[in-house]
Order: sequence, then C-alpha cells, then structure tokens
Amino acid sequence: MLVKAMEVGQLSTNCYVVTDESTLECAVIDPGAESGRILNYIEENKLKPVCIMLTHGHFDHTTGVDVIQSEKDIPVYINKKDVLETGHASLKFSFRPFVRYYGEGDEIKVGSLVFRVMETPGHSEGSVTLICEDAIFSGDTLFRSSVGRTDFAGGDPDVLLDSLRRIAALEGSYDVFPGHADATTLDRERRFNPYVRVALEG
Ligand SMILES: [Zn+2]
Repeated sequence: MLVKAMEVGQLSTNCYVVTDESTLECAVIDPGAESGRILNYIEENKLKPVCIMLTHGHFDHTTGVDVIQSEKDIPVYINKKDVLETGHASLKFSFRPFVRYYGEGDEIKVGSLVFRVMETPGHSEGSVTLICEDAIFSGDTLFRSSVGRTDFAGGDPDVLLDSLRRIAALEGSYDVFPGHADATTLDRERRFNPYVRVALEG
C-alpha cells in the first residue's frame, strides 16, 4: 500500500491517493480541491482510480469530486448523513447518480486492499474513519494532538468523544492520516492527545 498525501485548497485539506502497488489500482480520499494536481499525480504514475471515498461532506473535503469523477467515471462513497438530501440542511454535498452510501462495517475493495468503514460522528453526523491494513484515515475526527471542530451544524462534542473512544479501542497501533495537518500514530494519540485521553478516562 502506497499512501500519497497532497495538501489541497485554502483550508489545507489532506487528500490521499492510496494505491495497491500490485495492481496500480487506487482510491482518492477527500479530493477537497486542486483536482488537476490530483489527476496529474494519477496520470504520471499510471494509476487506475477505482473510487473516491469521502470522510465527510464538508466542502473543503469534496470540492474536487466532480472533476475527478467525471474524468474517471468512478463511484463516490459517502455516509448518507453527510449528503444534503438526507442529512443536515447546511451541507453542500448533493446526491448525484454516481454517489454510493457507505456505513458502519462496510468494506470497499481497491485492488487487493480492503477499506473498512467505521462511523465516527461528532465533527459531522456522517463522519467516517477508514481503516486499511495498518493505516487509519480519520478525516476531521482525529488530528495529531487535536480533533476537528464540533461547532458546525451536526457537530456534537460528546458524540465526538464516543467516536474517539472507539478509535482508541482498536487493537494495536496504526498510522493515522488525518484530514488536516501532520500524520501521526494511534499510539502517540492515545498517549498525548488531550481529547483522546479524556475519552479514555470518561
Ligand atoms: Zn470538516
């Protein structure tokens, strides 16, 4: 598994292109902006994108979806609760025919890679965390030493703590690739992230 992080857009969102090196099939996680740069990376490396996966529906994670989707004709996965038509009225991400819903326990295959979906609401109602091999893509649920805001519509700090508790309860350590700022590990966050510590003590 090859994880390419690309910081995109004015809010410095982390887009990840995750590739199965045995087949060159890849998934694009959170193409928040700069779709041209993401497509260049895909084409320069002769990758075969099979889907877009969204950790949640906020615009800074989704604005690059349409260009990549129409160029590559691939499905876009998101949790139902973060789509305008079925979620909060403040969401901007709208249902379109290429949208597929995913939720707790679903598995998305990308070549030989399997991404497991964990619903981790709190930052938004439909936030998910994606787990693949020894990597976690945590969106805006878990950051290095911090967490995503809970003051947007659909956010809830108590629900976020429950989600952090569930992530921290995963066995072993993982590399954590968050929606903003630097990557980290789950072990480090269990020890040093004040929000995870509160969640584990609560
Ligand atoms: Zn967000």
